[in-house]
Formats: sequence, structure tokens, C-alpha cells
Amino acid sequence: MKVPYKTYLTEQETPVKWYNIRADMRKKPFPLLMPGTGKPCTEKDLEPVFCKELIRQELDEDTPYFDIPPAIVDFYKMFRPSPLIRGYFLEKALGTPAKIYYKFEGNNTSGSHKLNSAVAQAYYAKAQGLKGVTTETGAGQWGTALSMASSFFGLDCRVFMVKCSYEQKPFRREVMRTYGASVTPSPSMTTAVGRLINAEHPGTSGSLGCAISEAVEAATSMPGYRYVLGSVLNQVLLHQSIIGLEAHTAFEKLGEKPDIIIGCAGGGSNLGGLIAPFMGEKLRGERDCRFIAVEPASCPSLTRGAYAYDYCDTGRICPLAKMYTIGADYIPSSSHSGGLRFHGMSTVISELYDQGLMEAVSVKQTDVFAAAQRFARVEGILPAPESSHAILVAIEEALKCKEEGREKTILFGLTGTGYFDMKAYQAFNDGTMEDFIPADEDIARSLEKLPKL
Ligand SMILES: *Cc1c(COP(=O)(O)O)cnc(C)c1O
Repeated sequence: MKVPYKTYLTEQETPVKWYNIRADMRKKPFPLLMPGTGKPCTEKDLEPVFCKELIRQELDEDTPYFDIPPAIVDFYKMFRPSPLIRGYFLEKALGTPAKIYYKFEGNNTSGSHKLNSAVAQAYYAKAQGLKGVTTETGAGQWGTALSMASSFFGLDCRVFMVKCSYEQKPFRREVMRTYGASVTPSPSMTTAVGRLINAEHPGTSGSLGCAISEAVEAATSMPGYRYVLGSVLNQVLLHQSIIGLEAHTAFEKLGEKPDIIIGCAGGGSNLGGLIAPFMGEKLRGERDCRFIAVEPASCPSLTRGAYAYDYCDTGRICPLAKMYTIGADYIPSSSHSGGLRFHGMSTVISELYDQGLMEAVSVKQTDVFAAAQRFARVEGILPAPESSHAILVAIEEALKCKEEGREKTILFGLTGTGYFDMKAYQAFNDGTMEDFIPADEDIARSLEKLPKL
């Protein structure tokens, strides 16, 4: 092993600024629009919903670097820097000449990269003197991360958890409650929008879009509360750039450079963060690299959606975003990758993809779990189902290198661990897991309901 199995950064090498990819995009992502007026959102428009400093980060498309406040730098020390791992055992098992690296973000109690942004959002909420925050959670990773960050900074945390996850993942719920959060299954009867969705879709297992509407309503109806979101927004991609910045420095230390970077894409935050500095080099014409977004076949926004303004939530109370979407009304089948079930995609990722600067593929759930199992057996880590989307495509690319006899350097994001997903692994191990792939008509029907601007 010439290159170490794990590369860590020293404290001096660890980034103290986040990188804002939009600063290097010549054609910027489209702005958020207010649902009532259809006009671009201003700071003032967003103040009832979000924290002030986060709004500033959200709307700033010119400042390339933002200082990470010292309290967050310190919090990061509990679980960062995360290792850049050379997948020697996977390479050997595949018999590939490719070099496979992965950046592992699962080394914290929340089990995923989500804590990187949760701590930032909780910090700014506290700094503004707020009492608490509300949010949605799908698979539960974001809710867990935010509960941890909120308890650290002494904030009240109210989580609306997509009903099917609430029932499938009782242990995640208990982690959140252990950190002092209150957890409500969504759609609930505690908000007007929840009651409406329940009336329109009786017995629904919920969706991220529904839970977002409920969390926003809760935040705006309680004094001293704001809403925070775990993905999709520019501010979240900004915080997640810590993943890519660390990886970039680690590669420099090793004297290596990735040729292909692969990430799973739900709302686009880990992918946006992982690729940020490398995409920056591409945008500035310094160095080329292939970027691949991997999404589930059950919720294929980039690969089968439309690039259009759409609502971010089912209740249509949030700003509209121009993004690749399969429609805000679309309720994806209850796949086991809860973290990838959002109907849309970050506006940054959407715009980069639309400009042809990156690629996207969608993959089937059973193939994803086969890749997860293969990975777990050689590299030891039990991956989250979401992360395993990236594993699958990394394996495919490594096998292509084998066929073509080419030695490429592949980097993928291993966003988290799968210990709370054992029901999914059970279905896979029992051979009862199914693949849900929406019909063209279903997507077309959903897209017909896109807002007409
Ligand atoms: C939430 C989550 C994702 C997907 O979210 P993005 O915003 O697309 O990064 C991926 N992996 C894990 C483990 C997650 O928790």
C-alpha cells in the first residue's frame, strides 16, 4: 500500500472557509421566486422563514469563500476531518486497474454528512437569539443531525418525520428524542396543511414535500422559531463544501487527482459539496473531471424530470425553485432510500447538469443493495442505502476501466452508514425487495401540474 489506506488532514490543513461554487459559475442558477408574486425572493421575503445569516448565504452568488465561525470549526473537530479512504480491498475484489477512493462521512452519531450543515444552521439560529427550529426528515438522518446540533446549542427542535419512516425506523426517532427533539409523523393533524393533505390523500405514507410544508407552517406560526432544511438549498451546499475541500487537500497531499467523481443525489447537497472545489477547477478552465450524479430509478428527477420552476413542497407555501423535478405532487413509492426521495434537485446541481458540466444516471434498488453488500464484505463499512447508489456506479466505472485496461482515479462519496436501514437489508437478504420504476404516464401526469409562470 503505497498510498495510505486512510488519509486524514492535520488541524492546520483542515479548511476554515466554505466554498461557494456559484461564485465561479458564469451562468448562475435561477433565483428562488416568491409563491404569491412570482418575483425573485429578497432577504426580507425570506426573513419570516429562515435565519438572517443563512438567507445572506442563500442569496449570495458572488462571494467565493465564507469564513466558518470558530464555534463551528470546534464542533467539526468532534467528527472531522473525515477520512479519504483508498478502497484497496474493493479494487482487489473487482480486479480493476482503477484507483478507487471514497470520502467517508458516516463517523458521527447521526451517521451521515447531514451534521455538517445541521451544526451551521443551529449555530446561526442561536446566534440570532431564536428559541427553536422546525424541520422535516425523510429517512431520519437529517432530523437526527439537527437534534444533535440543536441540543448542543440549546435550541428547541421540532421534527416532522415522513410517516412511513416514522413507522419503519422507530430507532431513529428515539435517537432524536434522546437529543431532546420532538418528533411528529407527517402528514399530521397538528398543522392546517397536514390536515388538508390527509383529507386529500387519506392513508398516505407521506413525503418530504408534505413534511416540509408542515415544518414551514409550524415555524412561521410560532414566535422565535425558524425553519431549517437539510438539503436542496444553496446554503446547505455551501456548508457541505467542507467534504470536497477536505478531499481536495487530501488528494494534493497524496499527489493524486480524481478523474471521475460520483455521488448519490437526493436534494443534491452531498454531491454539491463533494464536487465543489473540483467543479470550481473545471469552471475556471484549470482542470477537467467527470462528475456523475446517481439517483434512484424510483425518484428520477435529473434523468426523467423537467427543468422547470416548481414548488419545493406539496403544500405550495415555500418559494419556487427552477430545478430538475418530477413534480411537487409526485409521491414516490416507498423505496428504502428515504434520503433520496425528494421530487426536485438543488438549483446549483440542476444548472450544472443543464449546462452539460455533469452527468446523471438512475439505478434500481436491488442493484444498489447488491453493490452495498459487495462493498460491505470487502471494505468493512455497512453503507447507507443512499450512499450505495454511488458505490454501484463507482463499481461500474471501475469495471469499465478493467475492460478498457485503463487506470483511472475514481472518487465517490460514502455519505453514511446503514445501521438504521436493516429492514431494507432484510428485504434484500430475503429476496423480497422490489424495484419501483414510475411509468412515463405517471411522470407526465405529475409534470402537467407544474406551476405556469
Ligand atoms: C440525506 C442523505 C443523502 C441524500 O441527500 P443529498 O442532499 O442529496 O446529499 C445521501 N446519503 C445519506 C446517508 C443521507 O442521509
